[in-house]
Amino acid sequence: MHPISLSELIQYARRHSDFYRRFWDQNGFDPAKHFTGEMDLKKIPLITKEDFLSVPARSRSMLDPTDWYYFTAISSGTTAQPMVCFQSCFPTPSYYRFFTDLLEKQASSVLIIRPASYASALIGATLRETYFNPGSIISLGEPDDLASTARLAREIEADQIIARPSEAIRLAPILSKIGYPTEKIIFLWMSGEPITNTISELLKRLYPRAMVLYIYAMTEGPSMLGMRSSRCETLDTLGPNTYHLNTDGYLFEIVGESLVVTTLYKIPTPLIRYKTADRAIISENIKCSCGFEQGPVVSIGARNGNHSYKISGVTFRSEEISSILETLVGLVTKDFSLHIEQQAKDNRLVTVLHLFIRPVVAPSPLIIGAVREALERKLFITRSLSLGEFIRRGAAIFTVDFDENLSGKTIHPPSEIEKLFSHHTPHVGS
Ligand SMILES: [Zn+2]
Repeated sequence: MHPISLSELIQYARRHSDFYRRFWDQNGFDPAKHFTGEMDLKKIPLITKEDFLSVPARSRSMLDPTDWYYFTAISSGTTAQPMVCFQSCFPTPSYYRFFTDLLEKQASSVLIIRPASYASALIGATLRETYFNPGSIISLGEPDDLASTARLAREIEADQIIARPSEAIRLAPILSKIGYPTEKIIFLWMSGEPITNTISELLKRLYPRAMVLYIYAMTEGPSMLGMRSSRCETLDTLGPNTYHLNTDGYLFEIVGESLVVTTLYKIPTPLIRYKTADRAIISENIKCSCGFEQGPVVSIGARNGNHSYKISGVTFRSEEISSILETLVGLVTKDFSLHIEQQAKDNRLVTVLHLFIRPVVAPSPLIIGAVREALERKLFITRSLSLGEFIRRGAAIFTVDFDENLSGKTIHPPSEIEKLFSHHTPHVGS
């Protein structure tokens, strides 16, 4: 799949997409009148996830029987309504080709440990391009059953793992225990979570022979928006969640601190000035230690107004925290501020949660006890995992403190990610 020009993209959407025609019409944009070429990019109205979610996936998608097959990708549900998108091809970014050329030997057995909601598109849309070497074995592990996934890795002699970083970290001791040394893994492809220094140090320690590729992507987009690797020390100095921007076939803008994306491909639902909720800073002309060509890089912060934060394999939702606090009538208000950090402990990933609450009576240890008890029991951070169980597994440390001046609901990402955005009140939630 080759990139097209912005003019071709606008023509394509105008001719074939009822969804974009209606959206542009409602927003007073007439391509025939207002768009003459690339310099008119900023005249095109911004579109958001809420606009996409306002119609069923089929009615905003252009499916072409002469194209190929379409694979469904479903966002992991940081919003109440899951985002469904169809993808047929993920064009190979030049950073991916650059990275795989650096590998001493090419991987030949790929173990994918991602939920079915994402794995379908990951396999289908990458197979159309040569992401994996011909003759490779491609296997799907179960994210919810790492013991059987580890046995599968041993059977297939996996040398590449595609997973969330927190999952790869949990898998490592299980692989060692069943006698499959993690030194066999030469390529780690990590996506789906923010990268912190703790994550990259743990992966380096647990998979000592692996080159690590970190990917910043979204369900709506064909292919990665950004990439970095374990060789990108220059990007580390700009912040751990910083990536080389994939400018092949993408246009990027920053509008109101959010990343705005245009995809120059004929995909079922093109992204045309799509305003993601991700706070981002773009730095131009960066020459990185990995040796990749000089170009723009992007640092990704928390999400704006998305009311949730996904990290360490779990998701914190501000509405849920707030509604649990609301049940503690007469003790605390529903205001809170949650600070999230990550730590390594005995080669395990530990999530450190520090919650501030606002008391309505004199602060006492009793109130802290009541808040802890309620949240540990009632707050679910995956479909089946309570906060209490997460703590009992040794995966989290949870402390609660008072702040009498608190107002609103805020979730703070790790300070190393947040500090880049500190000139502005950085938060998730309202
Ligand atoms: Zn680099």
